[in-house]
Amino acid sequence: MKRPRAVVIGSGFGGLALALRLQSAGFQTTVLEQRDRPGGRAYVYQDQGFTFDAGPTVITAPNALEELFELSGVRLSDYLELLPINPFYRLCWEDGYCFDYGNDPELTNAQIARKSPADVDGYARFLEYAEAVFQEGYVKLAHVPFLNLWSMVRVAPQLLRLRSYRSVYHMVSRFIRDPQLRQAFSFHSLLVGGNPFDASAIYTLIHVLERKWGVFFPKGGTGALVNALVRRFEELGGELRLNAAVDRIRTERGSVTGVDTTGGWSINADAVASNADVVHTYRHLLRATSQAAGKARRLLKQRHSMSLFLIYFGTRRRYPGLAHHSVLFGPRYRELLEDIFDRGLLAEDFSLYLHAPTLTDPTLAPPGCEAFYVLSPVPHLGKAQIDWQVEGPRYRDRILEYLEKHYLPGLRQELVTVRLFTPRDFERELNAHLGSAFSLAPVLTQSAYFRVHNRDPRIGHLYFVGAGTHPGAGVPGVIGSAKATAGLMLADFGLSP
Ligand SMILES: Cc1cc2nc3c(=O)[nH]c(=O)nc-3n(C[C@H](O)[C@H](O)[C@H](O)COP(=O)(O)OP(=O)(O)OC[C@H]3O[C@@H](n4cnc5c(N)ncnc54)[C@H](O)[C@@H]3O)c2cc1C
Repeated sequence: MKRPRAVVIGSGFGGLALALRLQSAGFQTTVLEQRDRPGGRAYVYQDQGFTFDAGPTVITAPNALEELFELSGVRLSDYLELLPINPFYRLCWEDGYCFDYGNDPELTNAQIARKSPADVDGYARFLEYAEAVFQEGYVKLAHVPFLNLWSMVRVAPQLLRLRSYRSVYHMVSRFIRDPQLRQAFSFHSLLVGGNPFDASAIYTLIHVLERKWGVFFPKGGTGALVNALVRRFEELGGELRLNAAVDRIRTERGSVTGVDTTGGWSINADAVASNADVVHTYRHLLRATSQAAGKARRLLKQRHSMSLFLIYFGTRRRYPGLAHHSVLFGPRYRELLEDIFDRGLLAEDFSLYLHAPTLTDPTLAPPGCEAFYVLSPVPHLGKAQIDWQVEGPRYRDRILEYLEKHYLPGLRQELVTVRLFTPRDFERELNAHLGSAFSLAPVLTQSAYFRVHNRDPRIGHLYFVGAGTHPGAGVPGVIGSAKATAGLMLADFGLSP
C-alpha cells in the first residue's frame, strides 16, 4: 500500500515530536524548517567555544519524551542523557531572601516554616489542590484534542469544580499568605506565557508536574534533545529540510494538496501539519484559501502572550555559588506584570530568569568560563511601540549592570561574548505574531476547545501542532499537542500507532 505523505511546517519541539510519531506509524514525512538549524525556540547559538540554548532550559515530564522514543522502538537513554537539576530553581529577592525550590518535600517545608510558619499547612493544601488540577488538566486532557463544543461541555463540571476560571495567583493566595511565598508558587504560569494574575488556575499543575517527575537538563544542552529527535526521525527514513521557508499551503476543493516554498519549489502532500505560528499560518500561508479568512480575522482579536528580551553571554571566569536556574524577583510583582501585560510599558525595574547551564555541564563553555542567558519578560509588539534597535542595547546595559550589582560581581569586565534577542527577532526569525514568545495567551477563554484546533474544521487534512494549539506552550505542552494531532492524523488515514 502506498504510504501517505505528510509535510510538517516547522521543526519546533511540537513539529519534531509529531514528525517522529507520523514517521513511526507509516507516513512518509518531510519537515520543512525556514531556519538553518532545527529546534524553533530551542535554537542553539555557538560563539567562541560557548554553546547557548536559545529557549527552553527547564525540561520536565521526561516520561513524555521517553514515550516518543519508545513508540519508535528505542530508548531515549540511548540517544540522550537527562541530568536531574536540584534545586529546580533558586528564587531570590532584592532584600537578600532566597528560597531553594526543589523536589525535597522536607527541605521545602523547612524553608516555608522558617519564612512563614502559618503557611506550612496552607502549602500542603495547595499541593492537594494542584494535584487534583494536574490529574484533570494534564493526565486526562493534555493529549486529547478538543474538536467540538461538546468535548468542552463534557469537561466543564470538573473545570468549574477546580475553579479554573480563577487565576493562578488567586488560587495560590487562598492557601498561602506570605507575599514572597505567593510569588514563589505563582510565577510558574510565566513559563508558558501567562500572567499569574490572569492565567487560568489550571496552570498550577506545572508545580505538580515538576515535583512529581523532576526538572532536568539534557547533557550537551537542550540542543542535544533537538538533535536526538532529529536523529531518530531520520533513522526511520524521515526527511528534514533546512532553509526551507514555506510560502503557501496549497489547497484544492477544500483540501490541502501540498506546499510551495519561498525558494520556488513545491512538495505535494496528502496531509499538512503546521508547527508555525498560528496567525502566520492562517493569515499568510493560507492567504489564498477562502475558508481560512474568517479564522485569521478571529485570531487577530485574540490575546497573545508577552514577549521576552534575552541576553546570551559568556564570561572568562566561573561563578560557582549560583544555581543552574535562578528567578530574580525585582521590587514589584503585580505592578510589574501589569506594566508588561496591560499597560505595555518597559519598566525601570525588572524580574529576571538567569540560566547558568555550565554549572551542570561545563562542556558548554571553554575551560574556566561560564555560559549564561538572562531573560526579561517584556510587552509584545502590539502593546508597546518600542524601537528595539535603539532600546535593546540600553536595556541590555541596565540588565547587565543590575546583575553585576546584585548577583555576578565584576560581570561587565569578564564578558567574552554577548548576543541579544528582542521581540522584533521573535517576529522576524520565527514569524511570531506580535513577537509573542509563547503564542496565544493561556487564559481559560483561549484554552482547549477555544484554542486553535489540532485539525482544521473546514480545510481537509490540515492539522496544527505546537504552542498555539491545545494544550499550549511549554515543552510538555507541545509534545502533548503532537500526541493529540498524531492521533487524529493516524485515524484519518487509517493507520495505527
Ligand atoms: C526564551 C524561552 C525560554 C523558554 N523556556 C522554557 C522552558 O524552560 N521549559 C519549557 O517547557 N518551555 C520553555 N519555553 C517554551 C517552549 O520553548 C515553547 O513553547 C516550545 O518550544 C514551542 O514549540 P513549538 O512546537 O510551538 O515550535 P516553535 O519552537 O515555535 O517552532 C516553530 C518553528 O516553525 C518555523 N517556521 C515558522 N514559519 C515557518 C515557515 N513559513 N516555513 C518553515 N518554517 C517555519 C520556525 O522557524 C520554528 O523553527 C521557552 C520559550 C522561550 C521563547
